Amino acid sequence: MACVSAVREELLSAPPPSGFSIAESDDRGALFNVLPDLATCPECQAEVLDPFARRYRYPLTNCTQCGPRFSIMSGAPYDRPRTSMSPFPMCPECKGEYDDPTDRRFHAQPIACHRCGPKVRLERLDGHAYSLEALTQLDEVDAIAALVQRGSIVAIQGIGGFHLACDATQEAVVRKLREVKHRFEKPFALMARDLEMIRKYCVVTEAEQVWLQSPEAPIVLLQQHEENPLPENLAPGQVRLGFLLPYAPIHHLMFRRIRRPLVMTSANQSEEPQCISLEEVRGRLEGIAEGVVWHERAICNRMDDSVLQVSEASVQVFRRARGFAPSPLKLPPGFEDASGILSCGAELKNTFCLVQEGSAVLSQHIGDLKEGRADAEYRRQMLQLLEFYQLTPEAVVVDLHPDYRSTVWGQELARQRGWELLEVQHHHAHIAACLGEHEVPLAAPPVLGVALDGLGYGADGSFWGGEFLLADYRGFQRVGTFKPVPMLGGAQAMREPWRNTLAHLLAEMGWSRFEMNYGELELTQFLRQKPITALQSMMSRSPLATSCGRLFDAVAGAVGLCREQVHFEGQAAMRLEAIADESDPLTYPFNLPRLADSKLPYLEPLVMWEALLGDLVTGTPASVISARFHRGLADAITRMVVRLCRPEAEEVPVADTVVLTGGVFQNTLLTRWVRERLEMMDFRVLTPTRIPANDGGVSLGQALIAAAHRLHSQPLAVPGQLRKVRTCV
Ligand code: ZN
Ligand code: ZN
Ligand code: FE
Repeated sequence: MACVSAVREELLSAPPPSGFSIAESDDRGALFNVLPDLATCPECQAEVLDPFARRYRYPLTNCTQCGPRFSIMSGAPYDRPRTSMSPFPMCPECKGEYDDPTDRRFHAQPIACHRCGPKVRLERLDGHAYSLEALTQLDEVDAIAALVQRGSIVAIQGIGGFHLACDATQEAVVRKLREVKHRFEKPFALMARDLEMIRKYCVVTEAEQVWLQSPEAPIVLLQQHEENPLPENLAPGQVRLGFLLPYAPIHHLMFRRIRRPLVMTSANQSEEPQCISLEEVRGRLEGIAEGVVWHERAICNRMDDSVLQVSEASVQVFRRARGFAPSPLKLPPGFEDASGILSCGAELKNTFCLVQEGSAVLSQHIGDLKEGRADAEYRRQMLQLLEFYQLTPEAVVVDLHPDYRSTVWGQELARQRGWELLEVQHHHAHIAACLGEHEVPLAAPPVLGVALDGLGYGADGSFWGGEFLLADYRGFQRVGTFKPVPMLGGAQAMREPWRNTLAHLLAEMGWSRFEMNYGELELTQFLRQKPITALQSMMSRSPLATSCGRLFDAVAGAVGLCREQVHFEGQAAMRLEAIADESDPLTYPFNLPRLADSKLPYLEPLVMWEALLGDLVTGTPASVISARFHRGLADAITRMVVRLCRPEAEEVPVADTVVLTGGVFQNTLLTRWVRERLEMMDFRVLTPTRIPANDGGVSLGQALIAAAHRLHSQPLAVPGQLRKVRTCV
């Protein structure tokens, strides 16, 4: 299969050549030419549904246009002996198709049929047997219909892992799934039989339809209809629902008899890596799933479903995995000679990244390394991928955060193997990833990067999370920030939004002034129940963070959203965005003074808080408060950018390109409002699209920064010794 990676226009200096020829290919990046897994093509779909076809109801049907690729590869290049299809010799008919250049399955490595291919099995996880006849007159896959309709939770082997499936219309079953899986509020993804079924519940635009039906077949976050008959507990408090369409024959076949959407969530407990083998399912899902439908084609590389959202003209990938990884990314001009780099990524939503000969491979979404088996799985995947591409890096890149599991692992690798060790600041990496995605050349002038997220380790050892960095690939200068506010109770502040509300109020006005002016508020009654005196004295001992994510938590907590706790990162901010009433035209003010010590300009929210608390006093709805906060923040970010990029004393602007990145910019309302304001003032605005704005993109940024650094300086003489990449531009 061919893929156009770039189209360039050039004026010809000589007359065009006559005729058509296929030129010799140069090998640059050839190493990384491993295809991602592709959704079942229309021909194969038709074939498995055709009672007269040889592959009627064969659940592992595929061809050269579709089917598993990376998920079944145990080595490169891609040939059947290096896939999990190697134990299945082709029958004469399959071999005939495989060898026939005119056949759709010419050299389709995973080719198989009922006769020669892997079989599908159904079993109960409690050791008892199912009576297949009682469930279906057809086969194991059709039995899924009977099981989910009677309210069972079933584990189903897909392309890159197992799913847990159940009837999405049965509220009690969904509740049970949440309980057994220990996943309390995080939205569940849904699979529908076809577009028509999705349209019953959500608005599907043309662009969203294209993505749903694409070979990548991601989960697309869609706007729900106002009147939606699906149970609220599928995605509590969300205006969007994540839907995907069947992407493997097993899904198309099971949906023949299922007339309602299914929850299709990764088969795991809580946030652990999803199961990819029957052994894992048996060992980890007993008591969670009643039965399992599995097949004999092993999964070599775990691959979650990708998640994206389409907004206006562009797409935003939130989780980059099946369908996208490990497609190689061509690095921007100037990076042609970049090679031998492995970057370890962040800790949440981890990915890692390899750079060789001017191309990068960004790993699939690995997950949150703090969860259960994720760290071990991360190490295993990374070593496996190095072996897979037969790469020996010369440099390994880690985040500045000393306690990230990925940092610890990178340091260990550098020590053990004698690789150069480089450290890259978190928000600089966020910005570089976005520059790389937009092919901004290595030699381009610095941009103003606005990196807003929950938390990242700062170059000064404090916690950052609302940063304005004048940056290029080689270095950065911190030129603006958010107000440093204590994280009351340290890590607890990340889980309990009210702690941030209180910390902001204490920092801005102190308890007695707050209580005197706003004593009647429901918020005040709530906070009074907390040990205020102890918390006040904790303020000076808690670490400071300039975090935009915590500011969102603080505002959400003030209006009563997720006040006690969040169940996943960004939940409070998502709820706050979801309720915003855009029709309200007002805005909250922010000031932009300078910090006393560093003299950095920062967003001072005191006046915002006074306006917000005033609105609470008058009983203004939370939806209006949310809109005023979003608009105020967008205005303040814009004013800060203008001040930093076009200082009055300077004739030439400091920067004319602005990068908006970090997890906070997954908030489409904020992104849209900031972008509109900046573009009106003739800034070029870059935002992440195919590379996640969240920490999933950090490893690409780390790799680019390390590459820029290595291309411009001699490697260290002492391998394994730490080198910090934090030079200023
Ligand atoms: Zn096909
Ligand atoms: Zn066969
Ligand atoms: Fe981040």
